[in-house]
Amino acid sequence: MDEFDSPMYRAGLDQLDRTARLLNLRDDLHQRLRHPKRAFIVSVPTEMDDGSTKVFTGYRIQHNLTLGPCKGGVRYHEEVSLGEVAALAMWMSWKCALMGLPYGGAKGGITVRPWELSDRELERMTRRYTSEIAPFIGPDMDIPAPDMGTDEQTMAWMMDTYSILRGYTVHGAFTSKPLLLGGSLMRREATGKGAVYVFERACESLGWKPAGMTAAVQGFGNVGSVAAEALAALGGKVIAVADRTGALHNGNGLDIPALIAHAIENRGLIQGFPGGEPMAPEDLLTTRCDLLVPAALGGVIDERIAGRVECRGILECANGPTLPEADSVLEERGIVVLPDVLVNAGGVTVSYFEWVQDTQHYFWETEEVDTRLRKIMVHAFDEVDALAKEKNVSLRLASLMLGVSRVAEGKRLRGLYP
Ligand code: GLU
Repeated sequence: MDEFDSPMYRAGLDQLDRTARLLNLRDDLHQRLRHPKRAFIVSVPTEMDDGSTKVFTGYRIQHNLTLGPCKGGVRYHEEVSLGEVAALAMWMSWKCALMGLPYGGAKGGITVRPWELSDRELERMTRRYTSEIAPFIGPDMDIPAPDMGTDEQTMAWMMDTYSILRGYTVHGAFTSKPLLLGGSLMRREATGKGAVYVFERACESLGWKPAGMTAAVQGFGNVGSVAAEALAALGGKVIAVADRTGALHNGNGLDIPALIAHAIENRGLIQGFPGGEPMAPEDLLTTRCDLLVPAALGGVIDERIAGRVECRGILECANGPTLPEADSVLEERGIVVLPDVLVNAGGVTVSYFEWVQDTQHYFWETEEVDTRLRKIMVHAFDEVDALAKEKNVSLRLASLMLGVSRVAEGKRLRGLYP
């Protein structure tokens, strides 16, 4: 799969290969899982505010459609590449299967620095990208959602563009839309809250007490800020936070609601917040704390960082934050890794609820969404924890074993066409 070759895709394949060995997976099924079903590369010409035209590159990769339509976010970031999107699409497959959602995995993205574009430029780029992938997506085929650099507004533009092309309003083609346009209550908070539901359950299993535990959080977007808030609400102390503009430290615990209010006023950024001392962002991952929470980019914990982290546990809110070589170092050091496909699955789980609500044109109350979310997160953790103990493997391998074996079993049952 040379065309997808990248550190992230190699990490994804490495995980899949290890998992396949543990599962004794049939070779034909293993080979089929190593290849994404479809990959689209689209050109996204966009008129800039000064009248010039920039051509961005966009991607949408559908890893598999075995258990249902495929599902996954769209990322706007300067590091987006074919290989990164392919890895993220594969992880969505395992994540959806692990959570018991009737979906395959997909991911999309545009290589762009979104923070350098005006709102009008972002809208034009989003609409053109949506029109380019429109033939290959839809409520029964592939349902995009936000990821890094995209949000509810992006989904509203996508839904509008797709609906105009179809000639009627299509709610179920995108998730994490604004409430008024068929969104679900709690979708925005779902990833961060779901992560902390897993953490709470893991604490019960490990005999840890969340109250008083210190945490360092990398990323303060939709996921990192909500996870930080939920950890603080459990009595935890968030002592360090970083985003792409810098990092802050406060040994007594940062005032997270105040930091969130500051970020809302400051284009989402933490810089300039008076309640903490600035620190070097590269030191965040190695800050002494109980819980390290990577909630931004992938690949940030490599072998070298893994040897230097000073925490008891890692709550992987980002996708693919830990490289495979780092996993072995962390395991040797006895650091508990709560893995991404389980921890950050609250987002896609409430996306599933949104799609179900859109399909039925019947919308749920917050309490119903929250109760169902917690139940699914806790059940998934319990299944993973039990398998990890039974097979004496890490929580990551147990999560992957559950996700991969379900997709493989779906393929076995459906057989090979023709
Ligand atoms: N981008 C999120 C993820 O990585 C959410 C995907 C979705 O809701 O479809 O899981």
